[in-house]
Amino acid sequence: MSAPEPTILQNDFKRQWEFVEEAVLRAVRRVGSSGWYILGNEVATFEKELAAFWGVSHAIGTGNGLDALEIGLRCLGLQLGDKVLTTPLSAFATTLAVVRAGGVPVFVDIDETGGIDFGQCRELLARDSSIRFLLPVHIYGRALNMEELERLQRDFRLKVLEDCAQAIGAESGEIRAGTIGQAAATSFYPTKNLGALGDAGAILTNDAEIAKAAAEMRNYGQSAHYLHSRLGLNSRLDELHAAILREAFLPHLAAWTTARRRIAMKYLAQIRNASLILPASGSANDSVWHLFPVLVTAGSRDEFQSHLRSHGVATSVHYPRVIPNQPALVDAGLGDYSARLENAGRFARTEVSLPIHPFMTDGEAERVVRVCNNWSAS
Ligand SMILES: *Cc1c(COP(=O)(O)O)cnc(C)c1O
Repeated sequence: MSAPEPTILQNDFKRQWEFVEEAVLRAVRRVGSSGWYILGNEVATFEKELAAFWGVSHAIGTGNGLDALEIGLRCLGLQLGDKVLTTPLSAFATTLAVVRAGGVPVFVDIDETGGIDFGQCRELLARDSSIRFLLPVHIYGRALNMEELERLQRDFRLKVLEDCAQAIGAESGEIRAGTIGQAAATSFYPTKNLGALGDAGAILTNDAEIAKAAAEMRNYGQSAHYLHSRLGLNSRLDELHAAILREAFLPHLAAWTTARRRIAMKYLAQIRNASLILPASGSANDSVWHLFPVLVTAGSRDEFQSHLRSHGVATSVHYPRVIPNQPALVDAGLGDYSARLENAGRFARTEVSLPIHPFMTDGEAERVVRVCNNWSAS
């Protein structure tokens, strides 16, 4: 018998560590020996470099993506009971941030790309003029149609916070995700395209007042030493994480995105199976391919996943349950769940994420293609 083939992972953190180890240790030594661990030069410098990379004026580091979303909504002026139009298919954190900020989530369905359906947004906004906030998600790494988003924002005078946790660097119509809304939030959770070695996040904005409010809000609402102008939280980005992100991760992000795109192009060109729907491929910069979602249209999703697993290919599901069906929301009786969520339900029942990460070899990508092509729905 031949040796079992190594499993192709969703994210290969050990290969990543081999690649970043020296730079990470340099960053740790620098912070350790500086004697300054909270809100110093490392955070300020990383924020400047992140803002420059993103093409916005301000970045404000936070403890994680959930807090970045909550702080973003509060800095946009969300008040207790305000409705926030959002998507039913995302990480739970998207909706949780709305609730934590005191808002009421309102859901419309997604379209066939997985993103919030702008047509349904438009209809609902025309019917309900009390909705003033929109929290769209650039899901799977793909930028939503930014021109549509801009029109919607303008036509209904919306306050928009873009959830860019999965789509750092994605563009549509040459407009970057996260640059149309009054603010954007992102996450550096380890699996994200710019992942830290722990929890971290950021708020991005071109608005100096929002930037100032967010910087205070993450630090107990302090506007000056021991002067608390807002009821903030403690969600500071650590000097250590900022240094590691800046030294070991951010400099490679562009190349890692290119590597993800190469794998995605291979999958799009070579996966041929009538039981699978591949993600729509727009123009080259549309997606940064945080994930590669396929929909299983015949047979069972479980069987497809076991077939891949038995051939050494790890998969996962994003997401198996639409957010309005999460027990915490149902129990709280929160939100308006009147919309019919057909597409979101279909994604929840049939989506499978194939491995895609910057440390995958061509040979591994080809093996994923072969195993997908060999699967026949029973
Ligand atoms: C990961 C993620 C978040 C939450 O980020 P954390 O840093 O884990 O709090 C929010 N929204 C989306 C779309 C995400 O993928």
